[in-house]
Amino acid sequence: MKTIGLIGGMSWESTAHYYAILNRETARRLGGLHSAPVIVHSIDFAPIAAMQSAGQWDEAGEILAGIAEGLQAQGCGVIGLATNTMHIVAPAITARLSVPLIHISEPTADALLADGIRTVGLLGTRFTMEKRFYIEVLEARGLKVLVPDIGITNLDGIIYEELCLGIVRDESRRIYVDAIARLAARGAEAVILGCTEIGMLIDDGVSPLPTYDTTALHAEALVLTALRRDQPNL
Ligand code: GLU
Repeated sequence: MKTIGLIGGMSWESTAHYYAILNRETARRLGGLHSAPVIVHSIDFAPIAAMQSAGQWDEAGEILAGIAEGLQAQGCGVIGLATNTMHIVAPAITARLSVPLIHISEPTADALLADGIRTVGLLGTRFTMEKRFYIEVLEARGLKVLVPDIGITNLDGIIYEELCLGIVRDESRRIYVDAIARLAARGAEAVILGCTEIGMLIDDGVSPLPTYDTTALHAEALVLTALRRDQPNL
């Protein structure tokens, strides 16, 4: 199994979930005491969040690409960037790597298409919902993507001011459930939890639509890629 390189800290709350899923998924597939060979490079999120707000994407991309290169130099055979939003700089990272960067929305699209979903709602940060970088990857796979028509500032604020700080509130859960119900009324058949912290707030038990949690789908895809060459039948 190849060593997985995980660029984390955006936020560390969701990186902790990634770490657990990487290990559980490896154990599930290989059994016994197997766990994931993984190097987590967890960064300080505050400067990156400041660069997001200032629109300094190139600067942020340079930092993350340097970290990805470092993980590759340490022997990682596959790299994951543990945030949806920062996939806005995925092209800058892949340009510096010879090992694969598994784009978070590809395993998400795979899961949706496998379940026959064609029209999907997307929840995430305002960058993920309003810019094209994320939606266009899904559209290229043939999916129709709906984003909330109201309340984007509120949904975004709950991510940065609550979930990234480990705060989970019932009132915020209601706001997300309402947003999902509105997407359903507009024709969405499922909803992408397109921010790695939303799984702390929403699951299939409370959501009016089936959920596709990018954290779990991405972590599982990283394990599968890390195992594939050794275990072709997995
Ligand atoms: N973890 C979040 C995401 O998946 C938001 C934090 C960030 O901006 O990276 O988009």
